[in-house]
Amino acid sequence: MEPSLLCPDCKRLEREYQLTIAEIYSVVGGRFKSVREKLHQLFRWQDVRDEAVEAFYEHKKTHARRASGLRRVA
Ligand SMILES: [Zn+2]
Repeated sequence: MEPSLLCPDCKRLEREYQLTIAEIYSVVGGRFKSVREKLHQLFRWQDVRDEAVEAFYEHKKTHARRASGLRRVA
């Protein structure tokens, strides 16, 4: 058994996801001219994060064939 199922693409996609999380935290903790501006940035990064999660999840499916025991997430 391989110790890790993470291929280079997994690592890249995971890093992208973590970067968006870091951006979200920086927006949450940051100062903006207005609440509206802050929310605008927050929603923008949340969209980027959702796309990153989706891409990562879709990519992981390509590993599912050789990884038995993984549960399907609803
Ligand atoms: Zn992969």
